[in-house]
Amino acid sequence: MSLKGKTALVTGSTSGIGLAYARALAAVGVNVVINGFGKPEDIEKERSSIEADFGVTAGYDGADMTKHEQIAAMVEAAAPDILICNAGIQHVSPIEEFPPEKWEAVIAINLSSAFYAMRAAIPIMKARKWGRIVCTASAHSKTASPFKSAYVSAKHGLAGLVKTAALETATDGITVNAISPGYVWTPLVEHQIPDTMKARNMTREQVLHDVLLAGQPTKEFVTSEQVAALAVYLCGDDAKAITGANLSIDGGWTA
Ligand code: NAD
Repeated sequence: MSLKGKTALVTGSTSGIGLAYARALAAVGVNVVINGFGKPEDIEKERSSIEADFGVTAGYDGADMTKHEQIAAMVEAAAPDILICNAGIQHVSPIEEFPPEKWEAVIAINLSSAFYAMRAAIPIMKARKWGRIVCTASAHSKTASPFKSAYVSAKHGLAGLVKTAALETATDGITVNAISPGYVWTPLVEHQIPDTMKARNMTREQVLHDVLLAGQPTKEFVTSEQVAALAVYLCGDDAKAITGANLSIDGGWTA
């Protein structure tokens, strides 16, 4: 079945993996609504280039993923057939020094926002007897890492939420899955390097090679486009029997 003419809402899609999801879905004819923060001129440039490159409509909603009322209003306005829960942030710090406001923000954006988006989207999808929900989890939904307590907890929680939502919607034509990438070179990874250097007493080179790439047996970063291609597959009809899964795309990390 073609995805042409469906509508996707991609949270956290003004950069990195989210933007790749939006472009990959647009490339198969899906109208997209992007979301996230950034300079208005940069966001407009990305939005209009999706429309120009793929001949679909691309909207933008700046809902803050820490605010459940804004998330619900965004989902209701977009009325998506496809919901990609992707917004995420990272904070690196030992537990005893972890600022409470950072813990709250990481849990809110990486975990609670997906719950609130699903809560609003599932009734819309149930009424249509069709829906696809894909959440960007992480290799950290299956493994831990020192100094990333909030992120590891949020992503493990997200994996549980995906399984629960899949069971609740299994007879409604809706699938709910997680994708768990290894390291993808995006602003999120770049921004964690200084705190990782401090927490592990390492140089930038050591963090790159001994922390980021060392965990991936392929010794290569995963690309945003590879992750996005997996999401497009999960949205297609060939994947309709896949629900409640948490698919690794991590260069062998979790093996
Ligand atoms: P990124 O920093 O490029 O993108 C994050 C997006 O989330 C941006 O669009 C940003 O504006 C948005 N965002 C952040 N806070 C927000 C808020 N309060 N409200 C709305 N939007 C907000 O990072 P990325 O690496 O592309 O991350 C995307 C997802 O992929 C995240 O969930 C992340 O945990 C996950 N992930 C990333 C990697 C990696 O190595 N980059 C690996 C595994 C999982």
